Amino acid sequence: MNRENTPPDVECPVCGATGYRELFRCTDHFLTGETFPLLSCSTCGFLMTGSPPPEETIGKYYQSEDYISHSQTPRGVVDRIYHLVRRVMAGRKAALVARSAGITEGALLDIGAGTGFFLDTMRRRGWQVTGTEPGESARQVALEQHGITLLPAEGLFSIPQRAFDVITLWHVLEHLHDPGRYWQEFRRLLRPGGTLVIALPNPASHDAAHYGAFWAAWDVPRHLWHFSPANLGKMAEQYGFRLTQSYRMPFDSFYVSILSEKYKKASLPLLRGLWFGFRSWADALARKQKCSSLIYVLKFE
Ligand SMILES: [Zn+2]
Repeated sequence: MNRENTPPDVECPVCGATGYRELFRCTDHFLTGETFPLLSCSTCGFLMTGSPPPEETIGKYYQSEDYISHSQTPRGVVDRIYHLVRRVMAGRKAALVARSAGITEGALLDIGAGTGFFLDTMRRRGWQVTGTEPGESARQVALEQHGITLLPAEGLFSIPQRAFDVITLWHVLEHLHDPGRYWQEFRRLLRPGGTLVIALPNPASHDAAHYGAFWAAWDVPRHLWHFSPANLGKMAEQYGFRLTQSYRMPFDSFYVSILSEKYKKASLPLLRGLWFGFRSWADALARKQKCSSLIYVLKFE
């Protein structure tokens, strides 16, 4: 291994050990073409992106119109499908949050709220909503489109304790440089009996195994951590949370497979991706833990 490509000691956020082995290198197919090693903790197997850009400079890896996504007015077929899926998903998420928390209204915090679409859905259903979002342009869209003022990321740490019944992170935890600091905040900010809902891509999925280094949801270096269901449960326990339920995210099997086929430069990526996405989705019907992405429900006691 080239010395300059050897990541320094990394402390595993799940078990605290420092030994790791490199599995393979992943490419930032989405934006820069740079490569990053995928590391596996020698003690617990947790997967980490090696040598990630520091928090101060990682912003440049998000400098794409696509990442914020997501134009706010539909143009063309793909955009229309995207907007339809987003609406269906927001409704499904809202129902899942209410069911998991056992309440139909309450105080909700969404971390990494993007352009505020989910929070707007919740507010319409009677929830008091608060959100944080590091991207300034996304915060601007949330204000203009939904009239929701999102806090910048650091605003989280000055919210008074025990302010929320529910905290949600939709594909966000894997982006945070210091996940342990956030787990402490989940504890501080949730009321007793509160509910934490975390959606994550699943590196133990059927499609991750099939696509290997081309699996689109490695998404290096934006994804710093790659939580399997077992790793997430273990980290949750350290901070006093219990994993009580998990749910499949069926669209992700298809979306991630199509994107992975594109990254492989396969011919007919849409068809191949749909076909493999279908197989991955069907496989996960019997084995939930193999689904491309999962939503985890955790309780704070
Ligand atoms: Zn570990």
